[in-house]
Amino acid sequence: MKPYSVEVFCDVFQNLKKGEQPQPDFIRISVNPDHWWPDSCWTAILHLADKTQQNCLFADYDTFQRFKRQVETKIHLSGVVSDWAEWLDPKGGDIRKLFAYLLANPKPVAGRPPESVCPRCETPIWQQAGMRRMEIDAAYQARPLPVYCLTCGQRFKHETGRIAYQATSSAREAHRIAKALELASSQPTLQESELAAV
Ligand SMILES: [Zn+2]
Repeated sequence: MKPYSVEVFCDVFQNLKKGEQPQPDFIRISVNPDHWWPDSCWTAILHLADKTQQNCLFADYDTFQRFKRQVETKIHLSGVVSDWAEWLDPKGGDIRKLFAYLLANPKPVAGRPPESVCPRCETPIWQQAGMRRMEIDAAYQARPLPVYCLTCGQRFKHETGRIAYQATSSAREAHRIAKALELASSQPTLQESELAAV
């Protein structure tokens, strides 16, 4: 699979006049979806950044640019984790906990393929916005063994040539997965959102 772009939008608060909204700025990295190391870890860092600070709230541009530069150059993973631990883990800046998240063992996907979602962040794996059933099946056939989640970096477990999956074991879980798939189908695609921004 060709390189894939993972991005997160961050709100930066600096020189804001009263009542002015922060301008979102983005951090974008290019990852190789076929090799988990180290790109699944960089993907996980961006996901943590997005989730732990309500869409990445930065007080000033210098701090934001420092984080952006360190992440986008993808050179020193453990340096980023230790420099930004308190920010990535607001409940105590626990470096061991952060590495446990970044290097989590491969897990079965949730739900039977191709209607499966990531077991950690619940992003649909093969389904994208506006896809018809045939297209979802084709996406699964084309790439039946994804290595890791391109949203949160969770690795997927494989077994004897197929992806391992956890069938839904309760009505509640089935509902959760259905909801995630439904949400995904109503999200704009990347191309659509990019076009809207032009
Ligand atoms: Zn995920």
